[in-house]
Amino acid sequence: LYHPNNLLVTGGAGFIGSNFVHYWRHQYPDTRVVVLDALTETGCYENVLVLEGDNHFRFVEGDILDQTLVEQLLRDEKIDTLVHFAAQSQADDSIYGADAILKTNVEGTHSLLKAAKKVWLDENPDSRHRFHHVSTDEVYGALPATELAATEITPYSPDSPYAASKAAADHMVRAYHHAYGLQTTISHSSNNYGPYQYTEKLIPLVITQLLQGQCVPIYGDGQQMSDWLYVNDHNRAVDLIIRSGQVGESYNITANNAQTDLNLVQGLCALLDARFSHSTHVPHSQYITYVTDRRERCRHFASDNSKICRELGYSLTETFQSGLAKTVDWYLDQPSFW
Ligand code: NAD
Repeated sequence: LYHPNNLLVTGGAGFIGSNFVHYWRHQYPDTRVVVLDALTETGCYENVLVLEGDNHFRFVEGDILDQTLVEQLLRDEKIDTLVHFAAQSQADDSIYGADAILKTNVEGTHSLLKAAKKVWLDENPDSRHRFHHVSTDEVYGALPATELAATEITPYSPDSPYAASKAAADHMVRAYHHAYGLQTTISHSSNNYGPYQYTEKLIPLVITQLLQGQCVPIYGDGQQMSDWLYVNDHNRAVDLIIRSGQVGESYNITANNAQTDLNLVQGLCALLDARFSHSTHVPHSQYITYVTDRRERCRHFASDNSKICRELGYSLTETFQSGLAKTVDWYLDQPSFW
């Protein structure tokens, strides 16, 4: 087992990264967490504000492309474990703004790899320090519904600039392991949901639209499917990979829980109906509107999590129902967030 002491978490003010920081501080109170985040449009310092004053926590506003800053943090903070969440994660926008995506996701990852190699390996070739890269199952590309889920050896076939940039970053991470012996691991997760998610994303968008009595569009017949993973089930898996994963390997993280969009939205309506059953209200499902599907939406990502379950003993703690209920309650409790 590997025991991290001082973590550098890039993108720790974003959705998954901030949940990871809260999870880690709670789980391992004696270890130190330094967040490096550029606070782009999806990053928000308030997501980690409650940790202000915690002397095992430090927030640094800065860019992962600033290699000098990263080297300085690795040295000054005696970082032994880098967990890399920072990315331009707006997959849909990537069709329009691929330059920014490539810069952060590919060059940014390379900047971190160069800094880790210089500070960790060039100064001590036997360094066992860890570099964990958070990737996506979108690198495998969309699959026809009839095809088996992607495993870690399925060839990459990204079909958006975002997915291509994550794939390129994965290859660089792997290359730094093989070429220089950097102790790397990679995880590929499916769609995450939970607290602190940017309200333009599907689940928080639906919850907050319903709470404001606004229409929720369903595209086509609502039968397009996605796998939904509760964010702390993702973060528990990342923790497991850092501590007991095999260096040089990659692991898929999914809930094996593909849901149609219609099922998802109806589930959220039912949860909100139950929360407001004491007051006179109309069923939330009345806000569902069906809109003609102009985009090609039969895309479907599916990856197989049997490797992490078999090799690292991973299992989920949340069901889709319990994860959605926690998420709805969090958004109800945090109106200032949205
Ligand atoms: P997010 O957009 O909420 O968070 C990204 C964070 O990175 C933000 O805080 C942002 O300010 C920061 N950032 C962006 N560019 C930066 C830069 N150049 N330097 C420093 N910080 C920078 O994204 P998220 O949904 O939390 O995703 C986190 C990671 O997980 C990403 O690598 C993403 O590819 C991966 N991922 C996300 C999902 C998902 O469903 N959200 C699924 C699979 C993988």
